[in-house]
Amino acid sequence: MLNARGRKFLSYYRPYLAWLAVDLACAFVISAIALALPLCVRHLTKNLLDSGSPAVFADIALLAALMLGLVALHTLCNLFVDYQGHMMGAMMESDMRRELFAHYQKLPFSFYDEHQTGQLMSRITNDLFWLSEFYHHGPEDLAIGVLKLGGVFLITMSIHVELSLILLVFLPVMVIYAFHYNRKMNRALQRSKERIADINAQVEDTLSGIRVVQSFANEAIEQAKFDRENARFVESRRADYRSSAAFYGGMIGFTQLITIATVIFGGIGILQASLDLPDLIAFLLYVGILIEPVQHLVNFARLYQEGITGFQRFMDIMDIEPAIQNAGRALEIRAAGELELRDVSFGYQPEYGLVFENLSLHIRQGEYLALVGVSGVGKTTLGSLIARFYEVSGGQIRLDGVDIREIELGSLRRSIGLVEQDVYLFAGSVAENIAYGCPASSRAEIIAAAQNANAHDFIMRLPQGYATHIGQRGVKLSSGQKQRLCIARVFLKNPPILILDEATSALDNASEAAVQASLARLIDSRTTLVIAHRLSTIRHADRILVLTDSGIGEAGTHSELMAKNGIYAQLCRLQNENSG
Ligand code: ADP
Ligand code: MG
Repeated sequence: MLNARGRKFLSYYRPYLAWLAVDLACAFVISAIALALPLCVRHLTKNLLDSGSPAVFADIALLAALMLGLVALHTLCNLFVDYQGHMMGAMMESDMRRELFAHYQKLPFSFYDEHQTGQLMSRITNDLFWLSEFYHHGPEDLAIGVLKLGGVFLITMSIHVELSLILLVFLPVMVIYAFHYNRKMNRALQRSKERIADINAQVEDTLSGIRVVQSFANEAIEQAKFDRENARFVESRRADYRSSAAFYGGMIGFTQLITIATVIFGGIGILQASLDLPDLIAFLLYVGILIEPVQHLVNFARLYQEGITGFQRFMDIMDIEPAIQNAGRALEIRAAGELELRDVSFGYQPEYGLVFENLSLHIRQGEYLALVGVSGVGKTTLGSLIARFYEVSGGQIRLDGVDIREIELGSLRRSIGLVEQDVYLFAGSVAENIAYGCPASSRAEIIAAAQNANAHDFIMRLPQGYATHIGQRGVKLSSGQKQRLCIARVFLKNPPILILDEATSALDNASEAAVQASLARLIDSRTTLVIAHRLSTIRHADRILVLTDSGIGEAGTHSELMAKNGIYAQLCRLQNENSG
C-alpha cells in the first residue's frame, strides 16, 4: 500500500518512535484540555452561580483549582511538544543530512560536471529544514486538528443542535477557502525555495571566482546577476505573502462571521427559551477556539506539501546510483603498478562523441611514460579513466592484470598518486594539508615528505611554520609552493602509480626547477604517466607516446622519435622556435 519512497519516508521515525508516541499523547492532552476549559466555564455559569447553596464559594475555589491544574498540564504538554518535538525533527533532519552528505561524496565526477555546488548546498540545508518541520509538526498538527474539530462539534451538538448547524454551514466554506489559499501559498513557497537555491548557486559561483571578478573589475556585472536572482526571489515572496494575507485575514473574518451568527441566533434562542445564557457563553467560547483546529489542519496540509517536495528533492539525489561503485566481490589490492588499456573507448556524453576509440596501451611496472599531444586530445581524460573517475564505455583497463572495475575503489585510488596543474588545498594548516595523503602519519614523516618535495625550507619561513594556515584553497601560497605541498602529500601517500598532469605547466622557470627536482625523486621506481606541456621536461622518459585524434600516433624514446622526424620532432622544433 505504501510505495518504496513512502516506506523510506516513515523509516526516519524509527529511532524516535518513543518520542513520537509521547508527542502524540501530548497533542491529545492539549486538545482535551482546550475542549474542557469552556465546559468548566459552563459549569460555573450554569450550575454554581445561581445554585444558592452556601458551599458555592468552596465549589468555585475547587473549580478554580481544577482549571489551574488543567492549564498547568496544558503548558507542560505545550512545552514538551515545542521543545522535544522540535528536537526530534532536528535529529531526524541531521540523520538525513548525514546520509545525503555521505551520498554526495560517492557521486562520480560526471554528476558534478552537471550540478552546481550552490544548488546542492541548498538541498542539504534549506530543503531538509522544511522536511524536519513536517516530520515533527505533521503528526501533531493532524492529531490536534482532528481532535479539536471533532470535539467542538460533538460538544456544541450536545449543547444545542440547531445552533451548531451554523457551524455546519460555515465550516465547509471556511475549509474550502483555507485550502484554496493554502495551495496558492504552497506554490509560491515552492518557487521561493527554488529561487533561494538559485541565489545560493549565484553567490557560490561569484565568491569562488572572486579573484577573477576583481581582476576584471567586473563587480557590477556580478552584482547585476545577483540582483536579478534576488529580485526573482522577492517576487516569489510577494505571491506567498499575498495569499497568506488572504488566508489569515479570511480565517479571522470567518470566525467573526460565525461569532455574529451565533450571537444573533443564540439571542433568538434565548428569547424563545430553547437556550440559556450559560449555554450561549459556552458556545461562543467554542466558536473562539474553532479557528485553531482549522489552522492546524491547514498547517498540516502546507507542511505536508513542503515536506513532500523537500523529500522528493532529497530522494531525487539519493536515488542516483553512484555510477561508479564496487563490484559485488571487489578485490582489495596492493598494486605493483602494471597497467594495461585494452581497446578502451570513452566519451563523456553521447552527444559529444568519443574521446577514445579502441585505444590499447601497455605500461610496464616502474616504467616512466610520457604522454604528449595537442590540447583537448584526451590526455587528462586518460588519467581520469585510470583512476576510474569515469567509467570506460568499451574495453577495459587492467591493473596488475585485474580489470579495475573488479578492484575495490578505495584500494585502486590509494594506488594512484595524482598531481595536476590546478592543485586543491583545503582550508587548514600546512601540516594538515600534507597529512591529507596519509592522515595517520607522524610529524617526522610529514617533515620528511616536505623535504622530499623541496618544500621544507619555504614552510619553515612561513610565520608559523607547519602550523601556518594557508587559507581556503591555499590562497596564501604561490603556485609553486602549492604544487610542492601537493607533491609532499603524494610522497606521504606513497603510491606505486603516479600520474602527473601538466604538474609544472603553470610555474615560472625557477619554481619549475624546484618542482622538477622533487618530482624526479617522486617518480623514481614508480610506474609514472607524465603529461607534459613543455617537452624539454620529458626527454628522459622511458617511452614517449604522441596522442592524436585517431589514437596513438607515435611511440618511442626521445632520440628514436627525433630520428623518425615525425609529429614529435615537429612539436619539439615548434617549441624550440617559440622559446628561442
Ligand atoms: P587534454 O588532452 O587537453 O588533457 P582532456 O582530456 O581534458 O584534453 O579533454 C578531452 C576532450 O574531452 C576535450 O574535447 C574536452 O572538451 C572534453 N572534456 C573534458 N572534460 C569533460 C567533461 N567533464 N565533460 C565533457 N567533456 C569533457
Ligand atoms: Mg589536460
